[in-house]
Amino acid sequence: MEYKVIIIGSGPAGIFAALTLAELGVKPALLLEKGRDLNERERAKSEDMLCGWGGAGAYSDGKLTLSGEVGGLLGEYLDKEALRKVLGKADEIWVAHGAPTQVYGDISPRVQELADRARLASLELIPTRIRHIGTENCQRILHRLRKSLEGRIEVRTGCEVKRVEEENGEIRGLTLADGTSLKSRVIVAAPGRSGAAWMKSQADALGLTTKASAVDIGIRVELPAPVLKEITDITYESKLIYFSKTFDDKVRTFCMNPYGEVVIEKNGDIITVNGHSYAGRRSDNSNFAILVSSAFTEPFDDPIAYGLYIARLANLLGGGAIIQRLGDLLAGRRGTRERIDRCLTRPTLGDATPGDLSFVFPYRHLLSIIEMLQALEKLAPGVYSRHTLLYGVEVKLYSNRIQVSPELETEVRNLFAIGDGAGITRGLLQASASGILAARAIAERLVS
Ligand SMILES: Cc1cc2nc3c(=O)[nH]c(=O)nc-3n(C[C@H](O)[C@H](O)[C@H](O)COP(=O)(O)OP(=O)(O)OC[C@H]3O[C@@H](n4cnc5c(N)ncnc54)[C@H](O)[C@@H]3O)c2cc1C
Repeated sequence: MEYKVIIIGSGPAGIFAALTLAELGVKPALLLEKGRDLNERERAKSEDMLCGWGGAGAYSDGKLTLSGEVGGLLGEYLDKEALRKVLGKADEIWVAHGAPTQVYGDISPRVQELADRARLASLELIPTRIRHIGTENCQRILHRLRKSLEGRIEVRTGCEVKRVEEENGEIRGLTLADGTSLKSRVIVAAPGRSGAAWMKSQADALGLTTKASAVDIGIRVELPAPVLKEITDITYESKLIYFSKTFDDKVRTFCMNPYGEVVIEKNGDIITVNGHSYAGRRSDNSNFAILVSSAFTEPFDDPIAYGLYIARLANLLGGGAIIQRLGDLLAGRRGTRERIDRCLTRPTLGDATPGDLSFVFPYRHLLSIIEMLQALEKLAPGVYSRHTLLYGVEVKLYSNRIQVSPELETEVRNLFAIGDGAGITRGLLQASASGILAARAIAERLVS
C-alpha cells in the first residue's frame, strides 16, 4: 500500500499536520512516533520525557505564545498577517481541545507603563500575549487531540523511522528501525529537539543545506513570588532583553513561571535545569531563566558542543544541577547545604547540589548574568537580593536549521521539515502552526 503522506513524530508539529490533513481530506495518511503512547508515558523515565504521543509538549509548561515575534522563526517565511492568521488557527485548535480562554499580556496602559519603566532600567520589554495551559493540563488536551484523529489518520507509536528514501530528488518512502519499508508520496519530518541529531543525519545523507543554530547558556533564577508579582500579574511572562555593559552580549529573560517550580531536565546523559508552573497549584516562588547569547570567534562553528560542554562541567562539579545563593556567588563563597537552609527563598528543587557556579561559567557569561540581575533590580526591587537562588545550568540548544521554502518543503521534492527538529520553531504554538502550514501546502498539491 502506498500512503499519500507519512508524518514522522507526534509532537505538536506532527499532530497539527495530521489534524489539518484529516480536515482537508488527504488520505491515507500515517503518523509514526518512536516513543510510547500518552497513557503509557511516565514523566520520571528519561526516554518518556521528550518522546511519545505529544512529544516534548506532554510535560511542558503549556504556555502558548500568541505573539509571532517569540517562539520560532516562522516570521521569516510568512508576512505578518499570514503569520498572525496561522498562529490564530493553531490557537483556535488548542482552545477547542481544552486550552483556557484567558489570555495574559494584552497591550494595555499598564503594559505600556511597564515597558517605559523597563527602558529606564536599560531593559527592553517585548510585550507577549500568552495563554497558559499549565503543565498538569497538557496531557488532557493531548489526549483529546489524539481522540480527534481516531479513524481519520493511522497512528503507530513505538515505531521509529530509520531512514527517509528518495530517488532523483523526490521522496519515495521510508525505512523503519525494524527494517520495514513504507511507500509514501509525501513525508513530513517533525522529529523535535530530541530527534535533531537524526534529522541532521538525514539532511546530510540527502544533501540538504543546513545551518548551525546559536546556543543560549544561562541560569534559572528563583525568588519569592511577591518580588515579581507586579510584572507577572500584568504580563504573566515578560520577555526582557538587555545588552550587557561589559561585553555587549544579548541577555534575556526566558520562560517565567509565576508561583512555579524549578525542575531538572535530562538531555541524554546531561542534566540541566528548567522551570514550569501548574494552572491549579501554587508554590511561594517564581522562577525564570536568564540566558546569554554570544557570537563566537572564528573558526569555531559548533555552538551546541560548547553549550553541552558547559552543562557537562556543571554535572562534573555538582553530580547534576548546582544551586547557589546570589549573595554567596557575589561574595566568592560556595553554596553549602547549611547556607541554602538559611536562605529566605525556599528552593522548590530539592535535587540540586549546593556549589559554586563561578567554576562553571566563563567570566563573560557570569558577568553578563550579574549585570542583567542588577538591571532587573531597578524594575523589580528584590531581584538582586542575596537570598535570590541561582540554579545552573540552563542551556537552550536549537536544532540545525534545515533550508526550506515558505511552504516548509526541503530541497528534496515532497519532503517537508517542520517544528523544533527542523530548527524552524522553538515553542508549542509555532510548532503547531508549522504543521498546519505544511499540511495545507500538501493538500493543495495532492487533492486537486
Ligand atoms: C520542560 C519543557 C517545558 C516547555 N515549556 C514550553 C512552554 O511553556 N511553551 C512553549 O511554547 N514551549 C515549551 N516547550 C517547548 C515545546 O515543548 C516544543 O517547542 C514543542 O514540543 C516542539 O514540538 P515539535 O512537534 O516540533 O517536537 P516534539 O514535541 O519534540 O516532538 C517530536 C516527536 O518526534 C518523535 N521522533 C523523533 N525522531 C523520531 C523518529 N526517527 N521516528 C519517529 N518518531 C520520532 C519524538 O519521539 C517526539 O515525540 C517546553 C519544552 C520542555 C522540554
